[in-house]
Amino acid sequence: SDPVEDPSFGGILGEMALAFDEFGRPFIILREQDQKTRLRGLDAQKANIAAGKAVARILRTSLGPKGMDKILQSPDGEVTITNDGATILEQMDVDNQIAKLMVELSRSQDYEIGDGTTGVVVMAGSLLEQAQKLLERGIHPIRVAEGYELASRVAFDHLEHIAHKYEFSATDVESLVQTCMTTLSSKIVNRCKRSLAEIAVKAVLAVADLERKDVNLDLIKVEGKVGGKLEDTELIYGIIVDKDMSHPQMPKQIEDAKIAILTCPFEPPKPKTKHKVDIDTVEKFQTLRGQEQKYFDDMVQKCKDVGATLVICQWGFDDEANHLLMHRNLPAVRWVGGVELELIAIATGGRIVPRFQELTPEKLGKAGLVREKAFGTTKDRMIYIEHCANSRAVTIFIRGGNKMMIEETKRSLHDALCVARNLIRNNSIVYGGGSAEISCSIAVEAAADKYPGVEQYAVRAFADALDAIPMALAENSGLQPIETLSAVKSQQIKENNSCCGIDCNDVGTNDMREQNVFETLIGKQQQILLATQVVKMILKIDDVISPSEY
Ligand code: ADP
Ligand code: MG
Repeated sequence: SDPVEDPSFGGILGEMALAFDEFGRPFIILREQDQKTRLRGLDAQKANIAAGKAVARILRTSLGPKGMDKILQSPDGEVTITNDGATILEQMDVDNQIAKLMVELSRSQDYEIGDGTTGVVVMAGSLLEQAQKLLERGIHPIRVAEGYELASRVAFDHLEHIAHKYEFSATDVESLVQTCMTTLSSKIVNRCKRSLAEIAVKAVLAVADLERKDVNLDLIKVEGKVGGKLEDTELIYGIIVDKDMSHPQMPKQIEDAKIAILTCPFEPPKPKTKHKVDIDTVEKFQTLRGQEQKYFDDMVQKCKDVGATLVICQWGFDDEANHLLMHRNLPAVRWVGGVELELIAIATGGRIVPRFQELTPEKLGKAGLVREKAFGTTKDRMIYIEHCANSRAVTIFIRGGNKMMIEETKRSLHDALCVARNLIRNNSIVYGGGSAEISCSIAVEAAADKYPGVEQYAVRAFADALDAIPMALAENSGLQPIETLSAVKSQQIKENNSCCGIDCNDVGTNDMREQNVFETLIGKQQQILLATQVVKMILKIDDVISPSEY
């Protein structure tokens, strides 16, 4: 492909300039050409490994229920507090090409699975660390890559072997809730993990097609508003609009609402500045006023005639019109943005009406219930449009003390929603707390003997790399990593129980089945696949052209 067009060359192109010669032919100038340091062969691999490990080290302390949170500040000063691997890497300003691969790795896990974005990077970092040792012992990088590939397949298959089918039905969703709770337990919001997990599961089930095992997460809107408590977060079977009824005396609740959605002004036409109106007598003024009033009255009547019980307008109307609407018992919402109008129209099956003359009964949107909800003692009000005719779309409405908290809750819920979706697609689970990794490590270690060549060193190294996850979990929980890991590992072997993991929360048992710590099988498999892929890729790079330090 053409490197100039190909986006995957973007990183390299950043250091290059494209120029044209006198015949208009493009050529590339390497900037600062004499200052380039060029790493080749083993030096390149070692530098790359160091870069990858550096990124993984940052995330390592964030893994698990006792993982630390990070504060990140963007160049324009916005502050993010998060525990989510993908978010941390996304916001970090890395300019090393290999570090960028690790960012990409976390992003792929996020894209395909949604959860496990920290673990996948920690795993890759650990694979790199083990690879470094092998390279120092003189084993060729390609051999290491091949051994890792073999080992990853063993681990992948072993996961299937230790996985359990987790049954659920639309009425018995406890297993879904438990798995979402495991995801949320490692987040800042873990205080409310039960209620948030229930909300996530209900939301996913509301939009899921259980027969086709399909979930369209686009139908789940996640909104937030500063104020209230995290506990006030709720699931709404419909959509919400950050507006209120235009008059405080209008009804707060409309059942079986028929909604006129207007993008035309809902008031008498204003005299244009170009026209001249001569009002020199009281009579003339009163006639004009009367005409205006009649005009607006006709508009209200028109709405009523087509059967509308609620008007939602893009534009505002003045106090007088507002008063009249209240009197004629036609509730209205004004100043609703275009995007929201569209959303309302889609959900309620209505049509946006750009000209008053076009209003017809068929164009009205329908909703089972429209209500205005006030929050606490504040003046904050929202309009809830529920049980819409045309849509199963639901909204998760997050409350919280500040914007950062709400943003982090959004990210955490994203993980939980993805996990619930993944379980509906494939209801296999493995146990968490590092138990699956320990079990895989044992299996890979055992398989190493089968390989006669140099690969067996790499296969063993892969087994050691898997131990990094339980070790990080233990370390982050304040436990002795090596002692804890070896105790749990020997317990797994002795009891032939693949559910033994790290008791991060000091519950008193290592058995992750008893602790209800679950992860999805496909999520764990994907972590192993993606981490191996990226490490193999890094091992195969033996030539790095980069600008030297200035
Ligand atoms: P990721 O971004 O990779 O999902 P997390 O910070 O969410 O990272 O941590 C996930 C890890 O924490 C998984 O290995 C999971 O099994 C483990 N974990 C979650 N909850 C518990 C718990 N209660 N006890 C032990 N381990 C847990
Ligand atoms: Mg997680």
